[in-house]
Amino acid sequence: MTKWVYLFKEGKADMRNLLGGKGANLAEMTNLGLPIPQGFTVTTEACTDYYNNGKKIREEIKDQIFEALGKLEEEQGKKFGDSENPLLVSVRSGARASMPGMMDTILNLGLNDVVVEGFAKKTNNPRFAYDSYRRFIQMFSDVVMEVPKAKFDEIFEAIKEKKGVHFDSELDAEDLKEVVTKFKALYKEEKGTEFPQDPKEQLIEAVTAVFRSWDNPRAIYYRRMNDIPGDWGTAVNVQAMVFGNLGETSGTGVAFTRNPSTGEAKIYGEYLINAQGEDVVAGIRTPNPISQLEEDMPEVYQEFMRIAHLLEDHYKDMQDMEFTIEDKKLYFLQTRSGKRTAHAALQIACDLVDEGKITKEEAIQRIDAKSLDQLLHPGFDEAALKEAKVIGSALPASPGAAAGRVYFTAQDAKEHSDKGERVILVRLETSPEDIEGMHASQGILTVRGGMTSHAAVVARGMGTACVSGCGDIVINEEGKYFTLGGHTIKEGDYISLDGSTGNIYLGDIPTVEAEISGNFERIMKWADEIRTLKVRTNADSPADAANAIKFGAEGIGLCRTEHMFFEADRIPKIRKMILSKTVEAREAALNELIPYQKGDFKALYEGMEGRPVTIRFLDPPLHEFVPTEEADIAALAKDMGLSVEEVKATCESLHEFNPMMGHRGCRLAVTYPEIARMQTRAVMEAAIEVKNEKGYDIVPEIMIPLVGEKRELQYVKEVVVETAEAVKKEMGSDIQYHVGTMIEIPRAALLADEIAEEADFFSFGTNDLTQMTFGFSRDDAGKFLEEYYKTKIYESDPFARLDQNGVGQLVQMAAEKGRSTKPNLKLGICGEPGGDPSTIEFCHKVGLDYVSCSPFRVPIARLAAAQAVLNQK
Ligand code: PEP
Ligand code: MG
Repeated sequence: MTKWVYLFKEGKADMRNLLGGKGANLAEMTNLGLPIPQGFTVTTEACTDYYNNGKKIREEIKDQIFEALGKLEEEQGKKFGDSENPLLVSVRSGARASMPGMMDTILNLGLNDVVVEGFAKKTNNPRFAYDSYRRFIQMFSDVVMEVPKAKFDEIFEAIKEKKGVHFDSELDAEDLKEVVTKFKALYKEEKGTEFPQDPKEQLIEAVTAVFRSWDNPRAIYYRRMNDIPGDWGTAVNVQAMVFGNLGETSGTGVAFTRNPSTGEAKIYGEYLINAQGEDVVAGIRTPNPISQLEEDMPEVYQEFMRIAHLLEDHYKDMQDMEFTIEDKKLYFLQTRSGKRTAHAALQIACDLVDEGKITKEEAIQRIDAKSLDQLLHPGFDEAALKEAKVIGSALPASPGAAAGRVYFTAQDAKEHSDKGERVILVRLETSPEDIEGMHASQGILTVRGGMTSHAAVVARGMGTACVSGCGDIVINEEGKYFTLGGHTIKEGDYISLDGSTGNIYLGDIPTVEAEISGNFERIMKWADEIRTLKVRTNADSPADAANAIKFGAEGIGLCRTEHMFFEADRIPKIRKMILSKTVEAREAALNELIPYQKGDFKALYEGMEGRPVTIRFLDPPLHEFVPTEEADIAALAKDMGLSVEEVKATCESLHEFNPMMGHRGCRLAVTYPEIARMQTRAVMEAAIEVKNEKGYDIVPEIMIPLVGEKRELQYVKEVVVETAEAVKKEMGSDIQYHVGTMIEIPRAALLADEIAEEADFFSFGTNDLTQMTFGFSRDDAGKFLEEYYKTKIYESDPFARLDQNGVGQLVQMAAEKGRSTKPNLKLGICGEPGGDPSTIEFCHKVGLDYVSCSPFRVPIARLAAAQAVLNQK
């Protein structure tokens, strides 16, 4: 019989896949003899089974849950649902990869109208008993029965107001009884039945709700952002409750063994006295720093520090821990490797290496490659910052500079961001529902909450600047304005946030690029020693190329030459070329373009100082260049001695029903070989001149796009070779050059062995290859893909992360077929997924030589390429 449920003492740290991260760590901590409230874990397999079984928990699993509960009762000396000495439990999710705040938690389960009375008597503390019950009713109703939390908050706030108190902890037992009565009435009104009184039913419903929460929209979104597969499922941890809301000698907190923002090697934490579970993270009250615990309860503080250090030494990584103090007795509720900013990740990795705790290889594997992006984010322009007016300051929750227009709901932030505005989301406190709006924002400002509040944790994960806990703000969310430091800021007004200092500024402060620190260099050097994949960049201008070199690019993998034609003085010339009716006229127009192209290529070759540069010949359909404005049409007609009608007619004749599959790529060179001739001349003259002038060893790489057939490549290549040889002769040069192709049409992948006969290299254009393999328009798929994620048909955007199952097969096959013809055929990728870590790992596995990505992703690619080597070991 399958074992679906494990007591904590039956598990181990390496059972993470089965028990989830939280379950495995609780087991490990139990084995280490640490003070852990005992409990059991329902496995991730049970979650998968729930989904495979028509979203039902089978009886066998329920039986095992109750059996484990029986053992827990025995161990605790308490009984579940007992009116004299009741066992209460928490029910919490715990997936393989941590997904903070994405799934649901229920505390104090096991209470009902009778049990609460007994609980009050047993603890001799009615206030505490009713506080626990009102929390349970609200959480259970919200999470399990989907009664909106806000309706409970309204009742609670009204009672607080009536009593004239500010904090929850100021309500007494009688007030809380009133809260409970009103909560239950609300439940009945909403659900039409009484609040469930059978604790066993409560438990099974709660486990079901956690399983269900694996597939809530925010969890799906989080998984997509973090490459977590949808079929992993979540485990459920059922744990005996310990109570931080028992009075002034109790409390609850969250702590990190090192600072998660800066990486500083110092325990960093916050706690609240007389509070429970979510209070700290939810940011309802602003918590105390952990250092104050030393004054409040010195013994507890010593014990806390001892265990925190022990856990870090045991896991050899910075830990994020939750703890509860129940009447001066300390319990750890969980530990996990803490989420951290990229800045902190580098600091911690370097420190752990220097402390001799981990190897360089382990350090490389610890860092989330995608997060490096944060380091390259801008800061404020120093001069502008000096002039700027600080209107307030709060906690520096997630570093980086952000400026934008203020919006008060996640939805408004997202809508305005979609319109191209830079936005700052201002909230009383954020909740997991806000995730998309947070993601769309440049920065986040909250009124409540500490460094471990939801807003802070999530913003750090995203690399979004965040200032939290600004209690000086008086916010009117309905009126869409807030006041701070004597200023009133309305929706749409600009503010600026510094997530590193916590300062809040009036207006729109310009930002500048980030400086890269010593740790970054160090880690990158280690990564470079390990990786075998080369990393190039996609760049069309010397400025982009220079930026990429700064980030460590080893060459250009894709220069899209069409981007060089759009400038004001060039576009009329290319339009003239397109509208030319004869070869001679077209050649004459193209000859006017040569100096521009050549100038651009020279600048690139000079900037790249001999590093390889792949120049891709004209790719888009010609209609993209034709004029649409009346004035432009008239100017062109005048220049070419044509009538406006004639120009319009020619432009219209270029219309295509499906331009992405139309007259583009090498098809242009097949119909107009003179285009390829002009581009070859520009490349060769530029290369030879720079080689002669600077002495760089330049070997031009000319790339023919959208090839689907060997003879097509052969045809265009002949034009290229003929021109290149002519230029060499004219200039008396013996320069070498390569002519290669993109593999971006499925047919090219299928016939890669034949195509390789004509190609010196392949570069996988996975943007088009994905478009044509899926039959999804790369420009339009975004409109419907959202539904595909929600319905779990696809888990991630195949244009951002290579679809390894489908498109990946074509890549692998083309690589093998190409090399079967030419064992040394150089292989690269230049589509968008070339900067995505999981795609990079795939490219490493199938034997590509390099990846090419946008300049800002070069460091990510360098690290991911090293991780790919280590993951294969
Ligand atoms: C591709 O198709 O992947 C590619 C890199 O070319 P482009 O995006 O210019 O079509
Ligand atoms: Mg393409």
